[in-house]
Amino acid sequence: MKRRTALTAAAAALAAPALALGAAESAGAQTAFVRGADISSLPKSEAFGGTYMWSDGYREDAVWILQKSGVNWVRLKVWVNPADGYNNKARVVALAKRARAAGLNVLVDFHYSDTWADPGTQTKPAAWSGYSFAQLRTAVYNHTADVLSAMVAAGATPQMVQVGNELNGGMLWPDGRYDKLDQLAQLLISGANAVYATAPGAKVMLHLAEGGNNSLFRWFFDAMKSRGVPFDAIGASYYPYWHGSLSGLQSNLNDVASRYAKPVYVVETAYPFTSGDSDGFANIISASTPVSGYPASTTGQSNMLKAIANVVKAVPNGRGGGVFWWEATWTAVKGNGWDPTNPSSGNGWENQALFDYAWKVTPALKTLGTL
Ligand code: CA
Repeated sequence: MKRRTALTAAAAALAAPALALGAAESAGAQTAFVRGADISSLPKSEAFGGTYMWSDGYREDAVWILQKSGVNWVRLKVWVNPADGYNNKARVVALAKRARAAGLNVLVDFHYSDTWADPGTQTKPAAWSGYSFAQLRTAVYNHTADVLSAMVAAGATPQMVQVGNELNGGMLWPDGRYDKLDQLAQLLISGANAVYATAPGAKVMLHLAEGGNNSLFRWFFDAMKSRGVPFDAIGASYYPYWHGSLSGLQSNLNDVASRYAKPVYVVETAYPFTSGDSDGFANIISASTPVSGYPASTTGQSNMLKAIANVVKAVPNGRGGGVFWWEATWTAVKGNGWDPTNPSSGNGWENQALFDYAWKVTPALKTLGTL
């Protein structure tokens, strides 16, 4: 297989700049554009038989397929004590080690929950449910420090850390909800302080969904800045069929990058390569043309990614940091459904992975790796 030999050389060439990025960032130098992939569900996929292949059917470790395609960062979510035992400290450490061994940088995404945390749900971990606010603040610090120090000890220090996930409605409801901004700020300060104390050189990111919603971003970041929450980077989710136009994304990213003088990243985006379903569990996006001009096809998926990356690259003053594809490896594998409490739950996202229903890379992976 000729390409395998060629890819090995390419891998070595790619690994060096990826590894150098952390140092360059610490020095505040111009950094390489982030070509990222969230692969949080990969270990569970593999455990239930998920396989990953190149377009010619050659099977390889998904982390290395991403790396050889040019991906230079991964994003990994952390849950406190999930029912299925995935995405906890031990799993995140193990996956981060794999990613670092492949020369990839790591963004860790703390949810501060046992399950999904997003604008609609920010449920406290069960073990924290009876805590006072002061105890919660300590728990945020201790959990963040616990996971990060385990990563450092394993030789898998992350380069960036999200304190909270999609914080539109705050976190750790009700104590850190959007209508208790003083307490939300205190919780975020706890998390950020734990990052700075335990993961030397790592940047702190704060993350909101609705990447095209400038009034939301100004409301949140003004509120947190005025309350002294430290942060180094701004993260946005931007799903083009939900979060407004590309021009709205551009306006918002341009504004917040300038207003807070921070780099901005789209840390979650995705788009379908097909409107079809693979596992019998309805997909969240099933329209044949979810956004005008971008059909649910391999071409549409690739073109939408290019369009989003062009928006990020157009942010002035070099503050457009990069793009992460959300759940690039979440193919339809029985046992690896969406609900960590329900082993028979299905997958609503497999048509937005970067691997198709024959387990092979979609063209958008190459697009991502060459942004
Ligand atoms: Ca499905």
